[in-house]
Amino acid sequence: MTKFDFIIIGGGIIGMSTARELAVRGANVALIDKGKSGQEASWAAGGILSSMRPWSENSASAELSEHGKTCYPAYVRALSVATGIDPEYVRSGLVIIDAAHIDAITSWAQHKCIKIRMDFKYPGLALVLPEQAILLPEIAQIRPPRLLQALRKNLRQLSVSTFENTPITDLAIKQGRFDHVTFCNGKLAADAVIITAGAWSTLILKNIIGHIEIKPIHGQMICLKPDKHILKSIILDGDHYLIPRRDGHVLVGSTMEAIGFNKQTTMHAREKLLAWAISVWPALKTATLVKHWAGLRPLSNTEKPFIGVVPNFKNIYLNAGHFRKGILQAPASATLLADMLSGHASFMDIERFAISKYEKSAKIG
Ligand SMILES: Cc1cc2nc3c(=O)[nH]c(=O)nc-3n(C[C@H](O)[C@H](O)[C@H](O)COP(=O)(O)OP(=O)(O)OC[C@H]3O[C@@H](n4cnc5c(N)ncnc54)[C@H](O)[C@@H]3O)c2cc1C
Repeated sequence: MTKFDFIIIGGGIIGMSTARELAVRGANVALIDKGKSGQEASWAAGGILSSMRPWSENSASAELSEHGKTCYPAYVRALSVATGIDPEYVRSGLVIIDAAHIDAITSWAQHKCIKIRMDFKYPGLALVLPEQAILLPEIAQIRPPRLLQALRKNLRQLSVSTFENTPITDLAIKQGRFDHVTFCNGKLAADAVIITAGAWSTLILKNIIGHIEIKPIHGQMICLKPDKHILKSIILDGDHYLIPRRDGHVLVGSTMEAIGFNKQTTMHAREKLLAWAISVWPALKTATLVKHWAGLRPLSNTEKPFIGVVPNFKNIYLNAGHFRKGILQAPASATLLADMLSGHASFMDIERFAISKYEKSAKIG
């Protein structure tokens, strides 16, 4: 049986970023996915490189988000150069129109020295905005399907062994250590295993560790093609947002439902998203509906992801539970775990995401 340094289970943005980070450092890595890599939550995401409520984010998660934000330009550049695929990193800015949080945002921005503007205009756009809205001009976005395509190609270039359409059935433990994974037609061994299976992560770990929980939170999104290609910034209103793409498409997100492992879309959600979008930008009434989809966000039973070693096992690791920030936090989470695995100091203490410490219950938001 071939023996790898690391087996990574789950090929979403977190698994692929982790595999890339370890392969770049010289490790022999295998990545396993139950389907095709990059088709679940990571594909469904909007690609906003900001937390939805940075002013009230858990402090460890906020630090991870901030590092993610800083990493992105170089991360995307390296991937574009290596693969010829452009993930469309655009510093489009983010306009927050949720009046309830204006005071909290201004004091958060002041405290963190974050640039904001309240005197901006969008001539010709006829947006229906409240009197007070805040523009965060530094916020960027990427296009997840393109980023995932680039990562997938880059992993091949880095000689990561990829096993797709291979749902794992068991983690074999020998003398208290991970030994190998089994799947329907074989098995693979490694010195260590890293679970990056998003909303499915705790199902894989259920026979090993019971007290951690990662739940699927269903999110629906639609894509519209407006008559005119003029919206430049992301517009955020509570859980709802508009994301203008470079090619003129506009994404409208999103819903939040705890309905288990169900990825169906509903007419009710589509109408709700459309109604909200038109209330903010009435010109969208005549836009063409291009696509409607759903994905499952991985929500941990705390307000931050689990990153680090699984208690009682020296060679089983977890990097999962990024909920609404997995795209933003992926490069930073991968670096943090890879630094720990290679014995290097990192940009923050990984213990702040330690698995054994979680006691608080989940909060959606
Ligand atoms: C509608 C929506 C909008 C979002 N918008 C944003 C945003 O704007 N910005 C942002 O930062 N985040 C956003 N997110 C959140 C982000 O998508 C997630 O946090 C992130 O994708 C999680 O990545 P992941 O790799 O952990 O999970 P996933 O992408 O779900 O990947 C998990 C992988 O594990 C595989 N797997 C599962 N079980 C097994 C098994 N038994 N064996 C092998 N493989 C297995 C799956 O097939 C899958 O490929 C959004 C999410 C949704 C749904």
